[in-house]
Amino acid sequence: MKRNGQIKVALVTGASSGIGQALAENLAKQGVTVYAAARRLENTRHPDGGNLHTLRLDVNDQLSCEQVAQQIIAEEGRLDLLVQSAGFGIAGAVEDTSIDQARGQMETNFFGSIRLLPAVLEQMRNQKFGLIVNIGSVAGQIPIPFQAYYSASKAAVSALTLALANEIKPFGVRCMVVQPGDTRTGFTTSREVTDRSLKSVYADRCGRSIERMARDEQNGMTTEVAARVIASRIFRRRPPLLLNLGLVYKAFSLAVRLLPLRLVRFVVGLMYAA
Ligand code: NDP
Repeated sequence: MKRNGQIKVALVTGASSGIGQALAENLAKQGVTVYAAARRLENTRHPDGGNLHTLRLDVNDQLSCEQVAQQIIAEEGRLDLLVQSAGFGIAGAVEDTSIDQARGQMETNFFGSIRLLPAVLEQMRNQKFGLIVNIGSVAGQIPIPFQAYYSASKAAVSALTLALANEIKPFGVRCMVVQPGDTRTGFTTSREVTDRSLKSVYADRCGRSIERMARDEQNGMTTEVAARVIASRIFRRRPPLLLNLGLVYKAFSLAVRLLPLRLVRFVVGLMYAA
């Protein structure tokens, strides 16, 4: 398949670790000028021969988002690709999660993925070309018990991306939501367990569920493989709207669309709420 050569300048958020870091490196190695953004810059690696710049960015800070977008557009005169990989997960029973903790989850994962959009979309519309890639999660499609707020935040990211696709298409701008399954990253150690969860009536089941999530993630896909697959779709002339990473998760995604909801919830319950 012919590679889409229009992608020359990219901004990748969440690029200090995991999927964002691997994708930033992959794109830089392929000749894209990459701005790798995160709060911690000391972890950013610069691949040989790659054109990778680092920018400090907190996606919870509106001003930080606007400044980053403006700086790239001022330096490069264009911005062809925005990958939004910044995110983290909270775990705990719904009943044990405070409104502040729930809001914090939505703040980074959902609102954090819309703060950059106005400035970036304006530039992409003006240049009549661009691609927005939002990293959602398979949990957005198959909500996971004891990760209810994380699942909800990712469902919101997927819904927003699919709705946005129709709005921006007439301007030559596209978007794609990637729904990874378990991937071996810093996500596991960054997970925040809500305060009351390990002392409440849910403690035993919640503890087992979190252990299972952590184990599955650390046995999951490598970031290099995830980055390779995402990059290959990014360079397509017509990138897919929705990308489920990995054969198993593609199968899950298909199954939940075909099987009765009760059966799907029963299986998810056995896996994560027993
Ligand atoms: P990592 O923890 O390895 O990476 C998360 C990245 O997000 C880090 O670079 C972190 O950088 C950045 N980040 C977090 N909060 C902020 C913030 N407020 N502002 C800017 N950057 C921020 O996890 P992953 O690579 O696994 O996660 C990437 C995405 O993939 C996330 O959205 C996650 O939900 C999703 N995902 C992950 C799965 C997995 O199994 N690993 C499965 C499905 C989806 P810093 O702290 O330096 O700011």
